[in-house]
Amino acid sequence: MLNRTSTFTLFTLLSCFVFLPKHGNTQENGEGKSGKVESSYLKEVEQLAKTKPLQAAFQSILDQTQRNRNELIMLTEIPAPPFMETKRGERFASMLKEAGADSVWTDKEGNVLALRKGKKRTRTVAFDAHLDTVFPLETKIKVSNNADTLFAPGIADNTRGLVLLLSVVRALEEAKVETEADVLFVGSVGEEGLGDLRGTKFLFTDQSRRIDSWIAIDGGETGTLINMGLGSFRYRVTFRGPGGHSWGAFGLANPQHALGSAIHYFSKAADKFTRSGARTSYNVGRIGGGTSVNSIAFESWMEVDMRSEIPENLNMVDSLLKASIQQALVEHNAMKRMGPALTVEIKKIGDRPSGELPESLPLIQRAMAATTYFGVSPRLTRGSTNSNVPISKGIPAITLGQGGKTGNNHALNEWWYDEKDSYKAIQLALLTLVSEAGLAK
Ligand SMILES: [Zn+2]
Repeated sequence: MLNRTSTFTLFTLLSCFVFLPKHGNTQENGEGKSGKVESSYLKEVEQLAKTKPLQAAFQSILDQTQRNRNELIMLTEIPAPPFMETKRGERFASMLKEAGADSVWTDKEGNVLALRKGKKRTRTVAFDAHLDTVFPLETKIKVSNNADTLFAPGIADNTRGLVLLLSVVRALEEAKVETEADVLFVGSVGEEGLGDLRGTKFLFTDQSRRIDSWIAIDGGETGTLINMGLGSFRYRVTFRGPGGHSWGAFGLANPQHALGSAIHYFSKAADKFTRSGARTSYNVGRIGGGTSVNSIAFESWMEVDMRSEIPENLNMVDSLLKASIQQALVEHNAMKRMGPALTVEIKKIGDRPSGELPESLPLIQRAMAATTYFGVSPRLTRGSTNSNVPISKGIPAITLGQGGKTGNNHALNEWWYDEKDSYKAIQLALLTLVSEAGLAK
């Protein structure tokens, strides 16, 4: 999700799609640009919005304003720490049933799924919000408010997204909107941090259902549309050796020295590579190991994060890291005067795929046209959200904002401001969804 401190940081994105320099641990500078909407899509979406079923659905959303706020408070107070989304998932599943979905179930990964059958049933459009938050189980979660601003960890990212989904299901049901394609509502697990998009990755490897289009709700204000996925890899690298006394065992291969060499070779090579071409970054974020100044360490470790706008560059930095580690390992094993050789373990702890979808894609055109219909200029941008997974596979996908205003995402004082017209973000999402799924005649 995403988080914004001021309009000046409009296009500064974080992992899980965050904007916030202060608290986010994965901030990056993304770019944003005004999207160009073709007039045929503007016309198509405007005509759709004016149909009776859509007008009735919009009214239903407006009528749900107080209910949505109550449900936001209720769902926020059910903790959903990484890898522990079950309790919130169960509640969300029963709410989806109550909202009128045809069938609701939980898959092997823990994703809560609800199907709303279409008339033609030849395609499936998924509509997603993630269940998890970044907050550990012991975090005290009690919603407080100051007028229309609600405060609580996770209230914006992404509980508001879940509430938006429920509101859309209810509106479709109440207004009896029938779509051509099946709509699969998804409360996904593991979007944040070490969850590493596991819920969405599972959905796109599960062979039992093909998803043709993906719309994720995870973000800030209306008008920000993510059609580009910022990819990242994360590693924990550990050099190991026997370790011993700095004087008595002198001559043993030294893991700390090897790690230092690996960082040296990697930073030299990666610096050279990333000076031109698509924006690419690398960072050794943490290092550790060793027991005392006069001991040869038995292990030395580092955690490395690398990101790129394009998969080719991410793979290149990845191979530079691995080559540097090998070079250091060989060199330091050759230098040892006694004892066993060093070993190295390279453990991948994060893998978010990257990619970009062209703005000419019908889904992206429709989302931009719907945004324009609500009087907001669409801006296309890059982020790290569940949409990374379908985007990397070339499957139409977009991440839309949740409405209202948010701040301090991923921090204990996270807030969500219920603007007077925050219901419009729900109407916009519904319009995009029905436009992509097709209104059945
Ligand atoms: Zn999020």
